[in-house]
Order: sequence, then structure tokens, then C-alpha cells
Amino acid sequence: MTNISRRTLLKASAATAVGVAGASAVTSASAASKKVVIVGGGIGGATAAQYLKKMDPSIDVTIVEYNKDYYTCFMSNEVIGGHREMESIHFTYGKLQAKGINVVYDKVTGIDAAGQKVMTAGGKSIAYDRCIVSPGVDFKYEMIEGYSADVADSSIPHAWKAGPQTEMLRKQLVDMKDGGTVVICPPGNPFRCPPGPYERISQIAAYLKKNKPNSKIVVLDPKEKFSKFGLFMDGWKRHYGYGTDKSLIQWIKKSEGGTVTKVDVATKTVTCEAGTFKADVLNIIPFQKAGKIAFDAGLTNDKGWCPIDHKTFESTLHKNIHIVGDSSVASPMPKSGYAANSQAKVCAAAVASLLNGVEMVEPSWVNTCYSVIAPGDGISVAMVYAYKDGKIIKVKGSGGLTGAYDAELRKREELYAHSWFKNITADVFG
Ligand SMILES: Cc1cc2nc3c(=O)[nH]c(=O)nc-3n(C[C@H](O)[C@H](O)[C@H](O)COP(=O)(O)OP(=O)(O)OC[C@H]3O[C@@H](n4cnc5c(N)ncnc54)[C@H](O)[C@@H]3O)c2cc1C
Repeated sequence: MTNISRRTLLKASAATAVGVAGASAVTSASAASKKVVIVGGGIGGATAAQYLKKMDPSIDVTIVEYNKDYYTCFMSNEVIGGHREMESIHFTYGKLQAKGINVVYDKVTGIDAAGQKVMTAGGKSIAYDRCIVSPGVDFKYEMIEGYSADVADSSIPHAWKAGPQTEMLRKQLVDMKDGGTVVICPPGNPFRCPPGPYERISQIAAYLKKNKPNSKIVVLDPKEKFSKFGLFMDGWKRHYGYGTDKSLIQWIKKSEGGTVTKVDVATKTVTCEAGTFKADVLNIIPFQKAGKIAFDAGLTNDKGWCPIDHKTFESTLHKNIHIVGDSSVASPMPKSGYAANSQAKVCAAAVASLLNGVEMVEPSWVNTCYSVIAPGDGISVAMVYAYKDGKIIKVKGSGGLTGAYDAELRKREELYAHSWFKNITADVFG
């Protein structure tokens, strides 16, 4: 048996931790029997699969994913605003399969932590040495009386998982009369993509301003503030008259009674302390929790998220199971695609190290979240993270926010946003 080259694996781990592609591959004859099963082929799962194969091609990597087609949530707000086509956010698994990654299209119904196997709705039982779980989020529909998964699928989309609901929301906006009211209800913390609801409001506002200028957006928010608050407020003032009588956007925050508790589906009317609001187009984004399989597999805490070791992403509740992406408790990292991608690389390095009996280097992570407030006006927030005293921490002096308004800079930020999208999707699915 040839032992894995410790130096090479460490080099691979370090190179990928902050998202540098092209890590050197390592080989290990002893790793030929090592099996990793990945639950969920979204951003975290597909990234982990690719990087595990890059770090140690002898690991047998299987993704179990129930959708053959993946639509990225990022840039789905541009689809809703009519600024890009649905097909541009559509990805499949052919390129991963060509790299030797097994992809099983099935739904995982359980994970047997003691027996180290994953069970599927199709009746499969797939053994693993290590399992990586990245199922994204699920929704607390019960927090709004009258709302449910069926209602979201049929008439009042959340569109917080890109796909048919994205197209439904877009169509409802296109069909709405000029002079209509769009009501948007963002979720409470923590949730997938903190700036996402406000980017969506901006994208819809840009569409209405151009195509249906007599319409308005009412935002009913269970929070006092949100990500990139100052930048969004400034942008809404400049583009949509925010703060004036003619504002296209009305934002009602928690202390003004913005927490929605009830919806009448037939009339698209929502109720909160601030009153009842009848919508022509209603977008309710419910409070969130870890993906269902994380609950079924006993990986969640009493808050509904998955506690993990911050270095290896191994569950603190079940051995040999790692959780990355939105479902994991990785604060201060946000629940974002870029964070999921960065975490998956660190997790792949940890799993490859553990399977080969070598020590892992100190990890680090990166995240940037872009938002486009109006065509030609992009903003971003960025941060680098390190590992200290058993925890992920923010690196002081790294990252930051887009500065004060500068037309050239904002155009560049929009370009960066679109370029980031091309790069990350190539990294995850290419
Ligand atoms: C409108 C919007 C805009 C966003 N914009 C950005 C952005 O600009 N930048 C950014 O970084 N992030 C953005 N995000 C967030 C980003 O999309 C998520 O954080 C990211 O997708 C999380 O990755 P994940 O792997 O945790 O989950 P996902 O990517 O959702 O992947 C989960 C996968 O698991 C599968 N799955 C779940 N359960 C099972 C099961 N039981 N069996 C089999 N398969 C299963 C699902 O089908 C899915 O494919 C945005 C999100 C939204 C909603």
C-alpha cells in the first residue's frame, strides 16, 4: 500500500480553502475503498464533490440529488425583474459525471449514522465512510396562518428556491396591471441570502419604474434593519423616490407592525399589526430552518439548524457526517452560495485528510454578496474568515462594503456581480 503524500494533500487543502481553483491532486492506493456520499447536489454538495475528486481522485464520490436540473438562486432575482432569462441560471450534472463523480437522482429519506448508510425513496441503501450533507433550507410555513407549501406552489410563490416559483412570480408581475400593488414579506433572521429580499425589491422596482410606473411595492418586514441597509436605502432614494410621497417602495419595519401573521389566499390579503394589505402580486418569503433531511437524520439543534465543528464541518451530533451550506451553523458566515462554496472546499479538505489519516491545515474562508439595485448600480459586501479557538471568526480589516455613490464604481460592481456568477457556477458545475 502506498501512503498518501502528506505534503501534497496539505498543499491541496490550503490551496482550496479560500476558493483557489486548481488544487493539486493526491493519490492514495489505500483510499480506493473510501466512499463519500453527498446528500444534495446544490452549491455546497456539488462543490464538495468536485474538490474531493480533485484532492484525492481515488475517493469514490456519489451525490444523491432529487432534481436533474439545478437553477441557481443567485441571479434569480434578475429573472424575476425581467433582466435575464431562466435558462441562464440552469445547470446540470453532466460535467461532474464526466469527472468520475457518481450522480444518483433520488430523494434521500434517511441517514443511518450508526450503520453509515444513506437510504433513498427509490429503495437504495448507499454505504459511506463519510457523508456530506448540504440540503439547503426548508420553510416555517406555520408562522403565517393560511400559508403552506401547496399555496406557495400554486398561487403565492416564495421563489426562495429557484425554479417554477421563480417563473410564476415573474409571470404574475408581467400580468399585473399598471397601478397594481406588489406586497413582499421578507423573513426574520437567520435566512438564506440576507440581502436577497432587498435585491428582489430593487429588481422588481426597476421593472415597475420602466414598465408600470403607477404601481407600488409594499414591504412588510419582521426586522428593523437588513444587510447593506445604508446602501439599499440610498439606492432606493436615488432610483425609486424612497422617502418621498411619490416613492415606489413603502417599507414597514417590525416596530411599525410589519410582521405578517396571516394570509387570506383567495384575496391575496395579508395581516400584520400595521393593518391588512391587499396585493395584486404577493411574495411571502417564510422564516427558515435546515433542509428536512437534516431533521430526519437527527442533525439539527433546538433552533432548527445543524451544529458542526467549525474546522471539519463534522456534525457535533453524529460522527462521520459533515454539514455545509445553509443548513449548518457557521456564523459569522452568512447563509450564502459563496459561503457554501467556500465551506464545501474546507470540508472536502477535512474529509480527504480524515480518510487518508493526515492532519489538515488551518482553514480560511471567503464570502462576497453582490446585489444590483438598478441596472448599472451594483453594490457588495465582502469578508474573509479565519479559524481561531475552535471558531470561525471574521478577519479584522478584510472585506467591507461598497463605498459612497460613484457612477463608474457602481457600473463596475454590476460587472463584478455578473462575472462572479460566471466564475462560481463554473467552479461548482463546470
Ligand atoms: C433570491 C436569492 C438570491 C441569492 N443570491 C445570492 C448571491 O447573490 N450570492 C450568494 O452567494 N448566494 C445567494 N443566494 C443564496 C444561495 O443560493 C444559497 O445560500 C446556496 O444555494 C446554499 O447552498 P446549499 O448547498 O446549502 O443549498 P442548495 O444550493 O439549495 O442545495 C441543496 C440541494 O439539496 C437537494 N436536496 C435537499 N434535500 C434533499 C434530499 N432529501 N435528497 C436529495 N436531494 C436533496 C436540493 O434539491 C438542492 O439541489 C441567494 C438565494 C436566493 C433565494
